[in-house]
Amino acid sequence: MEWRERNGVRWLQATMPGATAAFSSRIGGVSEPPFDGLNLGAFTADDPDAVVENRRRLACALGFLPERIASGRQVHGHELAAHAGPQEPSPFAEPDSRTSEVDGHLTAMAGLPLLVFVADCVPVALSGPGGVAMLHCGWRGLARRGLGSLDATETSTGEGLVASAAAAIGATDAAIGPSIGPCCYEVGEEVLEAFSGLGDDFASGPMLDLLEITRRLLLQSGVERIETAGLCTSCDPKLFFSHRRDAGLTGRQAGLVWRDGAVG
Ligand SMILES: [Zn+2]
Repeated sequence: MEWRERNGVRWLQATMPGATAAFSSRIGGVSEPPFDGLNLGAFTADDPDAVVENRRRLACALGFLPERIASGRQVHGHELAAHAGPQEPSPFAEPDSRTSEVDGHLTAMAGLPLLVFVADCVPVALSGPGGVAMLHCGWRGLARRGLGSLDATETSTGEGLVASAAAAIGATDAAIGPSIGPCCYEVGEEVLEAFSGLGDDFASGPMLDLLEITRRLLLQSGVERIETAGLCTSCDPKLFFSHRRDAGLTGRQAGLVWRDGAVG
């Protein structure tokens, strides 16, 4: 993964077989503190016009029209949206438009970027013969079948986000962007218990290693190669927003993936 910059916007980029992943930083936006600068999250107290401008800047830096970028309203759930074309209207370009509640996106179409918003959660880009997927993985999205039931009233019968997305596209490769590290992520007993089926060295006391959990789930799901940014969002206030560090009053960066090739 390497740093790229265009028009003042700075992001991490990963090359995957037939696909590209990008992970944005705070650098290159117009938002004022505490959302400075490239806050992409519309469900924050930031100026909505600044968010729209930041989204436009990121899209432009990556070489896309904002309307082409698929996104959703994230709810720490397990639902995936499959995209056969750009969303109309586009919730990324027009944040007021109606948005489906999903934490993962899939597409087989080239040149159709999928985006998730993050500020500590793990952004996971997948590629495989069936397409690409972009996932927003908090601990709830990661904890699922085979890891013990989190909630007896849960009605969804699907697997965790990682397993279901990897199966849907036959994922072979993954790129994982910056997320909160075990250095900064203290959790309660109920969270640790949710992962008890996964081994016993993914936490040090109450400090949970979400990245390691994600890696294990990816390997269990048949992913062969995993590239990671290796950066903690909470440790780096100049580069990244962190929900935990900033006690909720912060912006959102993004993880994106798109299939290479002619735009459909
Ligand atoms: Zn940290």
